[in-house]
Amino acid sequence: MSDKIIIFDTTLRDGEQIPGASLTRFEKLEIAKQLEKLNVDVIEAGFPISSPGDLESVKEIAKAVKRPVIAGLCRAVKKDIDACRDALKPAKRGRIHTFIGTSDIHVKFITNTTREEVLRRSIEAVKLARNYCDDVEYSAMDAARTDFDYLCKIVEETIKAGATTINIPDSVGYSEPVEHGKLIHDLMNAVPNINKAIISVHCHNDLGMATANSLSAAMNGARQIECTINGLGERAGNAALEEIVMALKVRKDVYKLETNIKSEEIYKTSKLVSRYTGIPVQPNKAIVGHNAFAHASGIHQDAILKKESTFGIMTPSSIGITGHELVLTSRSGRHALSHRLSALGFKAEGEELNAIYTKFLVIADKKKEVFDEDLQALMETEGKKGFDAAYSLIDLYVATGIKITPTATVEIKINGKSFKAAGIGDGPVDATYKAINSLVKEDVTLLDYQLRSITGGKEALGEVSVRIKKGAIEVNGRGLSTDVIEASARAYLDALSKLARAKLSKV
Ligand code: MN
Repeated sequence: MSDKIIIFDTTLRDGEQIPGASLTRFEKLEIAKQLEKLNVDVIEAGFPISSPGDLESVKEIAKAVKRPVIAGLCRAVKKDIDACRDALKPAKRGRIHTFIGTSDIHVKFITNTTREEVLRRSIEAVKLARNYCDDVEYSAMDAARTDFDYLCKIVEETIKAGATTINIPDSVGYSEPVEHGKLIHDLMNAVPNINKAIISVHCHNDLGMATANSLSAAMNGARQIECTINGLGERAGNAALEEIVMALKVRKDVYKLETNIKSEEIYKTSKLVSRYTGIPVQPNKAIVGHNAFAHASGIHQDAILKKESTFGIMTPSSIGITGHELVLTSRSGRHALSHRLSALGFKAEGEELNAIYTKFLVIADKKKEVFDEDLQALMETEGKKGFDAAYSLIDLYVATGIKITPTATVEIKINGKSFKAAGIGDGPVDATYKAINSLVKEDVTLLDYQLRSITGGKEALGEVSVRIKKGAIEVNGRGLSTDVIEASARAYLDALSKLARAKLSKV
């Protein structure tokens, strides 16, 4: 048996199912391109039947991202499988991933039918998918709670029907590691044709077991692990890609398994996904949390200075953390900026480079020293978004205090024309948003507002993320400045621009 674990990333499908994590098509494409750099084997790009926007987005990714296999999810239903086929047409290597619940509780309450009927539909779905595509994955949803003999029958028959990957998910996060490993072990022994397919697992984290269950399955013969960046996903999330990959790498002595992942791209991918989804990474998150490599106790710090391996089991650079490197100042030229940007994986030329350079100078004037993180944040918030913003900030004046009413005057550009308005509020941000509202005239609800600083010190850049809602549309926006009120205004206008675009074209 091969010692290679296929890494199947479902950030854009299971991860995107989190309420409010909805991504624009541009953001999905950018994430898919970064996943390609990370060198994942399979990208599950979406669920094409769920909306026309999702279908288009899977198509766009299939067109632009050529190295990994691009998978689309579909229920074991003809119209779903057809939509998947359509979405995957431009793919160099596409995969149709079809699923149905096989546990008695799913058979009875979701499909409202019998085990025999679910078996029949499974075989039919796989056969239809194989007519369209050579690479077909079948998932027995809620496999961990499915009757074992029935599961064996399902696996054997769907492999006979042509499935090339069989997924044994713990869809509800109920399994525990010894049990999920044993399930894979027993299936490997009981199903006669099992070596004709790759066995996969897809574990949820409801009891905090997703990574452990996935690795236990791998030790027992599973060769594909489905996971997400930052462990995003329904409810408590999925197994985190970074945890799976680094556990296999750091404890190769135990697992004796490998992946194709370029682990140096992990940190960047984690940051990108967190920014685009608007979901921050908890500080103590394994591998990618802010504190994951911070040694706080004096005894540990002393030891690690003497020898890194005393408490460090892996280096920050192994996941691509380069540290706070002082790179540029306001005296740096365009060439130095573009050089540093390309080292960080960003491309900016011509007009775009000029625009970025102007914004860079504003930051450099205020901050004096510009770090890699500042540049990353600048590119991710102010760089190309794939569309022209409907609203942009020209000027902002705010007066605030303890005994006076906070007042803001804003000047913004709406589709090329400049407008001015003033507003009062409970605080300077509220006053600014009220002034913007009086010009934009969209009745939106502000669902979330978060402020954090990029790099340290009192000149640190403030990054504001907001999430707004109007009707069924939810979008997020980001803004960056050394001034938190300005960053707040920029984030709000970014979100309003995305909303305008979403209303036009259904992101
Ligand atoms: Mn799932």
